[in-house]
Amino acid sequence: MKRFEQKNPDRLIDSTTTLFWFRRDLRLEDNAGLYHALKDAGNVQPIFIFDTAILDLLDDRADARVEFILASLNVMQQELEKHGSSLLVIHGNPVDFFNQVTPKAVFTNHDYEPYARTRDERVANALAARGIPFHTYKDTVILEKSEVVKEDGGPYTVFTPYSRKWKNTITAEQLKPWDTKRFTDRFKKTKPWPLPTLTQLGFAPSGIEFPPRAIKQSVIEHYHQQRNFPAVAGTTRLSVHLRFGTVSIRKLAQLAQTKNETWLNELIWRDFYHMILWHFPHIHERAFKPAYDRIAWRNDPGEFAAWCEGKTGYPIVDAGMRELNTTGFMHNRVRMIVASFLTKHLLIDWRWGEAYFAKKLLDFDLAANNGGWQWAAGSGCDAAPYFRVFNPLLQTEKFDPQQAYIKKWVPEFGSNAYPLPIVNHAFARQRALEVYQQAVGKPKAA
Ligand code: FAD
Repeated sequence: MKRFEQKNPDRLIDSTTTLFWFRRDLRLEDNAGLYHALKDAGNVQPIFIFDTAILDLLDDRADARVEFILASLNVMQQELEKHGSSLLVIHGNPVDFFNQVTPKAVFTNHDYEPYARTRDERVANALAARGIPFHTYKDTVILEKSEVVKEDGGPYTVFTPYSRKWKNTITAEQLKPWDTKRFTDRFKKTKPWPLPTLTQLGFAPSGIEFPPRAIKQSVIEHYHQQRNFPAVAGTTRLSVHLRFGTVSIRKLAQLAQTKNETWLNELIWRDFYHMILWHFPHIHERAFKPAYDRIAWRNDPGEFAAWCEGKTGYPIVDAGMRELNTTGFMHNRVRMIVASFLTKHLLIDWRWGEAYFAKKLLDFDLAANNGGWQWAAGSGCDAAPYFRVFNPLLQTEKFDPQQAYIKKWVPEFGSNAYPLPIVNHAFARQRALEVYQQAVGKPKAA
């Protein structure tokens, strides 16, 4: 496929230019790496690379995430133009790009995913070979890597003690915004560079509507009462913004500290899963607990297709999958229900579900998605015990008692057009218990 190309970026990037490389932090304000680039180096040329190693793997040419990124870059471009500067957008391989240019230094923010770690190591080495420094900073999460560890220095693998220690560790200083506004005159002065169009990147509009970046104070205030009911707009819908960094996590954490501890805990779960992925990168491919890799998954392709399409005959599961397929979002309670259903009722490998979510979720984030799936499958670090099999009907009675969510997404529910349940709940539960038990042994308590 033809690539979008900038003309001779190497001419613009000389040894007086510092590059700031945007990745999961698509905002100018309160951005740690950008702050340091502006303050410590100056003459900062901001860049974004549409990484072909990532884009080429996307099956859907109308992938809404590419559209979201492009829209966010356009917002930054408008701001940068006000400062007489411009984003430089590259479409290609990051290592190749950094091999072609000779800046004074490169600044960026940490990315904890296995692919990104390898890529950054290659970039750092390529730059170091030519004596160009590569500086990276914590920005995407609040506390990272080994900032919250057990007394023996090892990483926590259980959330509750981790969150307790997290709360004892956090200081006001760590949540202070990085005041990039003070240094906006230190962006490189340049004529605006053209940004690519979706078509030039090989993509098309998705038709998906993105949730606003506005922080809804009233949702946060009532979060602990409303967060479990998918028919209610009781969660913030900020996940896509947190994923791509169009809001600052520090700003949200400050708000959470003053407004709602339950919501703060969700932000801490996010830190927790990033920390787990950093310390245990094998979870990307394998179960956190090795015994769970012995489960004899049934992996029936027909049943998997019914699950993906929202045609299992379990209305809460089908509503969730249809919400996901239509909007790129699914409510957290329903994510737990559909993930439990796939792994326990249908005995389909959690990696199949994880990969489907990775394709469809606007907010797809490897750390949180893997954490959620391994939690539901029982194989994760702080997972639900495997013998707790969600009953979709009881979950509906508790969390969608008027069936408002179901009626919205499964309008034919109750008519002959709606399929019969793909499997009987009691039978499936018993089957799951037996298959899990064979792999991991008897539960300690049931
Ligand atoms: P809110 O409830 O308003 O929470 C605020 C923010 O906290 C979220 O935007 C998110 O960044 C973070 N957060 C909330 N819950 C969790 C959690 N359990 N783990 C980690 N972070 C959390 N979240 C993702 O961001 N990306 C994913 O790919 C993802 N995949 C998931 C897969 C499964 C199987 C499950 C059970 C959960 C998954 N989650 C994922 C977590 C959670 O469902 C979403 O973060 C949440 O539904 C997003 O909605 P919100 O922005 O309204 O969240």
